[in-house]
Amino acid sequence: MISFNVAGLLHEPPGAVRDVRVRDRYVTLGPDVELAGPLDADLRLQRTNRGILARGSVGAPLRRTCARCTDAYVEDVRATIDEEFLPTIDPESGVRLPVDADEPIGTLRIDEHHEVDLGQVLHDELALTEPMHPLCRPDCPGLCVECGQRLDAGPHAHGDDEIDPRLAALASLLRDREQ
Ligand SMILES: [Zn+2]
Ligand SMILES: [Zn+2]
Repeated sequence: MISFNVAGLLHEPPGAVRDVRVRDRYVTLGPDVELAGPLDADLRLQRTNRGILARGSVGAPLRRTCARCTDAYVEDVRATIDEEFLPTIDPESGVRLPVDADEPIGTLRIDEHHEVDLGQVLHDELALTEPMHPLCRPDCPGLCVECGQRLDAGPHAHGDDEIDPRLAALASLLRDREQ
C-alpha cells in the first residue's frame, strides 16, 4: 500500500503542491510485477481545479526471468508517474459527489478518506517496463541446444565428437527448427 492523505491539499487553491519523498518502501503490486526489494519515489502532488495531480518518478528493483538462459535476475527500473485523481466527496461539504455517467473507464479516485492510493498506477507503469525478451545481460549466450547447459557456465566443452552422430544430426535439426 502506497497512499497519501491529501485532505489538506484539497483545501488549498489550484497550483498548491506537496513534495513527497519515499525511500525504502516495501510494497506488493501483484504477481506480474514482482519487486526484489523496496522502491523509491520522488513525487509532487499538486492541487488542480478538478482534483490532485500526482507526478514524479519511481525506481524499483524488479524480478525478471531471462528469455535465453531462464535464470532469474533483477533489473533496476525507473518509471514516470503522471496521473490526476478526482475526489469522491466534496472536500468542503463532505457530500458524496455524483458520478458522471460519461466518466472514462479507469478514472482514478481520491477515496472517501482523502487518500490517494498509487498502488494501481505504480503497478501499471512498472508492468510496462517489462521487455518483450528480458535478458539477464545483453550478450547472454543462453543454453546449449545439445546438452541444455548454460553456455557461459565455465568451459563448455563436451565437443561434437562426444555426441552420437545420429544425435548430432537431430540436434542440428532442432537448431534449424528454432531459427
Ligand atoms: Zn540469460
Ligand atoms: Zn552443450
